[in-house]
Amino acid sequence: MNKHKMITEKGNSRMLMLFGQLEKLNRESMLVDPEIARQITAKILHLIQTQEKTRKEIVSKGSSGMEVILATLENTQDLQSILNILYILNELLTVGGGRRIGVFVSKGGTGILLQLVISASKESPPSEEVMLQLHSVLAKVGPKDRKFGVKARLNGALNVTVNLLKQNLQNYKLLLPCLLVLQVYSSNTVNAVSLGKNGVVELMFKIIGPYSKKNTSLLKVSLDTLGALLKSKTNAQRAVVHVPVLLYIYQDWHRNDTRHRHILIRKGILGCLKNITNIKLGRKAFIDADGMRILYNTSTECLPVRTLDPLINTSSLIMRKCFPKNRLPLPTIKSVFHHQLLRVPAGGPVAQLYNQPLGMDDVVDESDNNEDAEAENDMENEVEEKDHHAGNDDIETDINKLRPKETHSRPFEELKIYERFFMELSEDFQVFNFDNPKKGVTATPAAPKSHRPIIVPTTQALPPKNPTECPHPAPVPALDLDTINITKDQDGCGDHTHSRPHPGAGLEQELVQGLERVALDGAGPQVGGGGGNKHKRQPPILAGGVAARLGGEGEEMLAEDWAEEEESSEEGVLHVPDTALLLPLHDPDLYVEMVKSTSSVPQFSEVAYPDYFGHVAPTSREHILERVYGVQSPLPPFRTKIFQDIERLIHPNDILDKVVYDLDIQSCPVVDGGESLKFNSQFESGNLRKAVQVRKFEYDLVLNSDINSNHYHQWFYFEVSGMRVGAPYRFNIINCEKSNSQFNYGMQVLMYSVQEAISGRPRWVRTGTDICYYKNHFSRSSIAAGGQKGKSYYTMTFSMTFNHKDDVCYFAYHYPYTYSTLKMHLQKLEALRTPQTYLREDVLCETLGGNSCPLLTITAMPESTSNDQICQFRNRPLVFLSSRVHPGETNASWVMKGTLEFLMGSSPLAHSLREAYIFKIVPMLNPDGVVNGNHRCSLSGEDLNRQWQNPSPELHPTIYHTKSLLQYLAAIQRAPLVFCDYHGHSRKKNVFMYGCSLKETVWETNISATSCELHEDLGYRTLPKILSQMAPAFSMASCSFVVERSKEATARVVVWREIGVQRSYTMESTLCGCDQGKYKGLQIGTRELEEMGAQFCVALLRLKRLTSPLKLRNNAHLLDVDSDLMETRCKVSSTPSTYLLEDEEASFMEEVDYSAESGDEPDNDPNTADPHDNHLSDSESNNHRDSLT
Ligand SMILES: [Zn+2]
Repeated sequence: MNKHKMITEKGNSRMLMLFGQLEKLNRESMLVDPEIARQITAKILHLIQTQEKTRKEIVSKGSSGMEVILATLENTQDLQSILNILYILNELLTVGGGRRIGVFVSKGGTGILLQLVISASKESPPSEEVMLQLHSVLAKVGPKDRKFGVKARLNGALNVTVNLLKQNLQNYKLLLPCLLVLQVYSSNTVNAVSLGKNGVVELMFKIIGPYSKKNTSLLKVSLDTLGALLKSKTNAQRAVVHVPVLLYIYQDWHRNDTRHRHILIRKGILGCLKNITNIKLGRKAFIDADGMRILYNTSTECLPVRTLDPLINTSSLIMRKCFPKNRLPLPTIKSVFHHQLLRVPAGGPVAQLYNQPLGMDDVVDESDNNEDAEAENDMENEVEEKDHHAGNDDIETDINKLRPKETHSRPFEELKIYERFFMELSEDFQVFNFDNPKKGVTATPAAPKSHRPIIVPTTQALPPKNPTECPHPAPVPALDLDTINITKDQDGCGDHTHSRPHPGAGLEQELVQGLERVALDGAGPQVGGGGGNKHKRQPPILAGGVAARLGGEGEEMLAEDWAEEEESSEEGVLHVPDTALLLPLHDPDLYVEMVKSTSSVPQFSEVAYPDYFGHVAPTSREHILERVYGVQSPLPPFRTKIFQDIERLIHPNDILDKVVYDLDIQSCPVVDGGESLKFNSQFESGNLRKAVQVRKFEYDLVLNSDINSNHYHQWFYFEVSGMRVGAPYRFNIINCEKSNSQFNYGMQVLMYSVQEAISGRPRWVRTGTDICYYKNHFSRSSIAAGGQKGKSYYTMTFSMTFNHKDDVCYFAYHYPYTYSTLKMHLQKLEALRTPQTYLREDVLCETLGGNSCPLLTITAMPESTSNDQICQFRNRPLVFLSSRVHPGETNASWVMKGTLEFLMGSSPLAHSLREAYIFKIVPMLNPDGVVNGNHRCSLSGEDLNRQWQNPSPELHPTIYHTKSLLQYLAAIQRAPLVFCDYHGHSRKKNVFMYGCSLKETVWETNISATSCELHEDLGYRTLPKILSQMAPAFSMASCSFVVERSKEATARVVVWREIGVQRSYTMESTLCGCDQGKYKGLQIGTRELEEMGAQFCVALLRLKRLTSPLKLRNNAHLLDVDSDLMETRCKVSSTPSTYLLEDEEASFMEEVDYSAESGDEPDNDPNTADPHDNHLSDSESNNHRDSLT
């Protein structure tokens, strides 16, 4: 120890002495005697080579060693001294990692070396040893110096290295360091272009070659250099001719590198191909050189060896990129169905859609073939672009748009007609019999059901004001009404004719057999759930009680057939699952009744079994599928799916391409017996447009666009039958539009089996394996992609084996909830009403499609007609709720169902709630969208939740009148305490809220806070905070209270700003599941959604107590909310709910801790914010994806 220390100190002192001498020399003049400098540097070199500690000394803090050495290097002309110092640097920088190089770079070392390169190159001939040593040091420094490429270019050093290489192609000793330096130069894009001009691409092709055991590191560096150069388009063009060579070399290494010792070389070759195929010419060259087959075959051979995954990954990436773009198998991307608007606003989406020139192909752009869309074609950058980049740009920075809107544009006289929707505010109950409320009076206030909608004359009767506005009225819907010709009359049992072409006697026979099988099989096992409710077999199909369907294709039966069947075979009884106990709001017969009065654009004449039978939430847990290998990993299942897709090109003869379902042709194709699945979605909320059998058990499915639109595909709901038990079916929905999906994060599709249902398990279950969502090879027209060219669609794929023979199964994006279901639930809810409950159902207005939009009023009846009671009744604060403005967000309806069921319940808590508030509820803001299977829009082809600023009474009646109700309330000084619009969220987990806060928005931006006085009550955080403590699915961390520009016309922002409701929210429920709380790791189900709706109510009661404690303390029965809560939790089963309130202990906060919350801003979802998806803007950065693979 001591000895060691002594030696070190001795070394140090010698070193210091040597540096002192060297420094002195630098100060004086090196020219005096080069020999001295030579000796000193040699001694330093010797010390460094023999004593590790001395190396540390030079680069330690406070040491001037490095400066002295560099100064000497800069000053000396002596070759030997230069070499000595280069040796010293090589020794020094070989170990010690980045820190030593950091010191070197910070002292200006890079620049000095590059200068030396220039001056050395002027010697003739240049000293090979100096060049060798210089490049060795540069090769070490380059990768750590971020400005290296720029410095080299500015110093003019690029070409020195290039020339050196050109002259020394056989000098392997010099070649390697030079190539290493060149590799760093090339990572700078400007350098890459310049080097390309100087022939470096060609130079690299001289070095790389077929399999050889010699000089593999040279080869590796050359390939990496080439790969970096080829990121430049012009360089890639230079290399296009070499694509066959690269493929040949790749195959050669693949064949000969049997022990996989040179994976990096093989990957390097693929890296070059990957970059060349970024350009169109490169892709063409790749295809022409049979690249698809070569990479497909080599990859297949690599499959068994796990360590070769990076090669398979890059290969599949290249193959996906080069896969020729296909055309969606459609005549047009416009929706199959068209709803003729009475007035088509010029410039609106519908006018744009139908003003396209006749015969114009909107499925693909012709321009697609002309231009490369490089970034788009690179499959690596599959990011949710908008979300990532809009982020901060989207926050509202105009302070005036964050302040309450002062001007009330509408005169009160105009709003006065809405008075009749608020009878409770003037009701005096003078004719109501409180002693015997059951009997009530003729005009009982609780029962009346106003069926008088607000009429918007223009939509009802008047012809278009300006017919020229729509010069090219669209053709009639493609679905030929002659095939199913039904005339509805008011009683719903009108005349009908049925002239659908008969698919043939054999098929008819099969249908009947199939039907009986379903019925009789069901008779075997007793209907589960006890007893079995033997309904007479009903035609579960209607529209005038006409056509019936079970088998899944064109086998409607006439009403007479049903009648005959009922008479002739008593055995033919369809077991309708008895769900009455479990589903108090469901009634199949009532459902059918409801459907009869529902208007759909396609004039659906069938009912889907799940909606008819009802859905009982399964009791088993449905876990979010684990994503073992990350999104779009090249590993199974994704890889398998991709390879199957590529095989379509490799083995075209295996592809059937058989259309088995097609709404675009008048008679859907008739499928032959047994060989293909049968598809159908001609029922409420159904939206399958086409099904193509690709292989024996694989189908491509195309979704219909929203009506009067040409895009918005995400929601799906369709029926499948004719399946083989145990067969491995694969389904691909090929025209998805979003760039990512929760299907990549463990979400499953929903399936409903009729066989399961009649065996007593009527339920939607999460199902499907090998679920992936990825960009596919179907090109997407710029018309439907916001003008962007070169876009592709995405495929959502899942695999499925069916368990039952002769089953009819349904698949859906999320738990369906139709408009007719809502109507049924409302009727059943009314039956639940107790005399103490005030319930009124009004028709707010008619929709464009002729459906009525219900408005509910729920509160408690006053206890008596005493002045106090009536006064309390009328002065209850209002809570305004709405839901389902977006038809694809069915979860919003399930949450609403939970809310309604709780509000109408008999629990003391529900009663307290009714006594505390008047609830105004529009449970379905977009009935037309729901009915017609839209995902996003109404029949006007627009997103209704972007119309709140200036809704049109003609085009957006539900929004116009809902807003009017709120304007009316504001005008009479009764603006609601809470406004909440229920939605579903497709990309995030949990349930959460968006609210509006001036302060939080300003904080997010750079608006100077002093520029405005920010006084804001923090009350908007109370409700979400309460929810986060009570509702297990709710996550405060996901909430946001920032006002975005893109949301300025949404309900939340408009009600906040224009109506002045501080607590104005959007409540978003996940479509997938939860990643926190009690349901962490589980997919969301209807039970959890309904529970959420109930918890929302309970939270409102809590809010009431927090907002007006004094007032509440005067009401003894309202005071004890907590004990009420406990009570309810303990005996939930007494309420007819299908969910259970939790017994989880929640300690309520009396005060909202605001400061603690301000940091938890939204979108920390690790799934959506995949760190690998961050764009790197620094052109010098390495390809970050490569490091993953
Ligand atoms: Zn929504």
